[in-house]
Amino acid sequence: MATESIKWSYEHLKEEQKMHVLNSMTVSDFCGFFAANLDDPICANALGLINKKRLRLLFQNLSSENCAKLLQHKTMINPAIALCSVDEKKRKEAVLYLDEQHRLEIIRSIQAQEERLIKVYKKPIVPRGIATGTFPKGYPQSGQACIVCNEGYEVFDSIHGADCTLHSFHKRHDQGGICPECPFPDVFPLGDTELLKEWSLEDIVISGFGYFYVDGNPYVLLSVFQEQREVYWFAMDSVARVFETDRFCHKLTRFFISELASAHKRLEI
Ligand SMILES: [Zn+2]
Ligand SMILES: [Zn+2]
Repeated sequence: MATESIKWSYEHLKEEQKMHVLNSMTVSDFCGFFAANLDDPICANALGLINKKRLRLLFQNLSSENCAKLLQHKTMINPAIALCSVDEKKRKEAVLYLDEQHRLEIIRSIQAQEERLIKVYKKPIVPRGIATGTFPKGYPQSGQACIVCNEGYEVFDSIHGADCTLHSFHKRHDQGGICPECPFPDVFPLGDTELLKEWSLEDIVISGFGYFYVDGNPYVLLSVFQEQREVYWFAMDSVARVFETDRFCHKLTRFFISELASAHKRLEI
């Protein structure tokens, strides 16, 4: 569709209709619409109505100069999400078009986003971050330079968190998130069923679920906090035999629901 006619039709829609159209039009129409109206108030209005997925798409498709124009709109709610979705080179090019004040606002927005993500992931170093010149409170000293080249991060560099959650990489030095310095965490052992009899169902936290390929049966990873934390795998049927099956299944269901909810939350970020 010609961009002009899209603009005309758009202006005559109600807000919720605009939102629906923006979030469902084809990617090329969507990006073309923004590219043609960057300096028009219509762009500011539309920017406030698109979802996070569309925001990422927009930044991936527009030129760095056009991304910079979007970043200056007051309706640009979350520049950190947008800038995280583009590669380091484009991000650094885009911010060069901004004046000092806008640049500082963007940096503050990235810092706020990082603080939020640390809470969501419950890890001191998030899997994908952007360097801002300072680190959030509690960020490990060990993660403030790249574990591969030992060099620090320039502002707007991508920072990838390592699986150990203590170290980090430059994006270019990341080999799949695996830390070259820290050993693999110990594999949790199989627990003795007798141990289960000493625990009450209330004390147990379900921490994982899986199938061991040797017997193909389902196993659950259970943690108990006694003097110290103890974590073991148990065959599902032995757990169900020791505890009241209904109550255990209820606990397992709640585990799956909360896992799905947190996976969903992570996808939305
Ligand atoms: Zn490096
Ligand atoms: Zn490490």
